Amino acid sequence: MSGGDNLEFEIRPNPAPVGDADRAALLANPGFGRIFTDHMATIRYADGKGWYEPRVEARAPIPMDPASAVLHYAQEIFEGLKAYTLPDGGVAMFRPDANANRFNSSAQRMAMPQLPVETFLRSLHEVIKIDRSWIPEVEDGSLYLRPFAYASEVFLGVRPATEYLYLVIASPVGSYFSGGVKPVNLWVTPDFTRAAPGGTGAAKCGGNYAAGLSAQAEAAEHGCDQVVYLDAIERKYIDELGGMNVFLVLDDGTLVTPPLAGTILPGITRDSVIKLAQRDGRRVEERQVSLDEWREGTASGRVREAFACGTAAVITPIGVVKSESGEFTNGDGGPGEVTMSIRKQLVDIQRGLADDPFGWVHRVL
Ligand SMILES: *Cc1c(COP(=O)(O)O)cnc(C)c1O
Repeated sequence: MSGGDNLEFEIRPNPAPVGDADRAALLANPGFGRIFTDHMATIRYADGKGWYEPRVEARAPIPMDPASAVLHYAQEIFEGLKAYTLPDGGVAMFRPDANANRFNSSAQRMAMPQLPVETFLRSLHEVIKIDRSWIPEVEDGSLYLRPFAYASEVFLGVRPATEYLYLVIASPVGSYFSGGVKPVNLWVTPDFTRAAPGGTGAAKCGGNYAAGLSAQAEAAEHGCDQVVYLDAIERKYIDELGGMNVFLVLDDGTLVTPPLAGTILPGITRDSVIKLAQRDGRRVEERQVSLDEWREGTASGRVREAFACGTAAVITPIGVVKSESGEFTNGDGGPGEVTMSIRKQLVDIQRGLADDPFGWVHRVL
């Protein structure tokens, strides 16, 4: 039992918020993850006490003891989701309850306390409410929300910490693709794997990203944008991109995507794509896909398109896939038709421009 079900946030407005003119200048070209709003939410946790001191306060550096457990053993988890302006001027988040549940699955894997779903949602509401003026009005702009928690206990012993800090920060972001949707090129890393069965591949933890940076550097050396990881046992099957899930589109319209078997992150975009496709009568196969099947499929015409998906870019077409044994191209290398139509369906639901058959749009304001 970690408590914290009905926490009321104490609101301490930032006494020196960014001025209107400066904020407008920042929001004209926000980019991704480089500017931040005036506030953050924080909640503390201690064993025996549960979650306490829920606050919304000025965003500021966090004083940190050099022996804080997270700095040594990386007990840390995070989430990422967006708030959007709706056509009527309201503000909504997309499936935040799914993020709340995934946050708790990650917490469980990393031996951290769970945060009640209601409190997670409330923390996001409070930040959006107080920093509403930071939602960019540029096309495809949104407020990217980053809830996270880490072991704050000052202790160098190896065991689950007894104290944690949960925070929410918010970053206005512009269109992920400035100048139109552009396919990514992938590098199949021969040297590194992302996750093995029993490991932390299904948890959204910072450590997974740290472990992927060498592979990402290797991809860049080969002129690629992203890494695609193969399974750790046979080095044969596609796992994911390290920050996005993967789909293939077959010649009969079927979607194929690797199964949630513990080594890939259960993406909310992935789940939304599956549900939308099935609703439209499209076949979706959640099964292992080998790199050979993918390569041969592009040669035979069986694989027509491929795309990656995740909150930041929603859906990104995959162009060229490079490996040590050569490279192959999906379709004509440009954005595929099915890929772009699923992308539009999803973005329209998120932005309140289309019906929301699954009740995914969670209005905040
Ligand atoms: C967050 C994440 C994804 C995508 O998940 P979404 O919920 O769709 O944003 C995919 N892979 C990894 C490793 C991730 O951390």
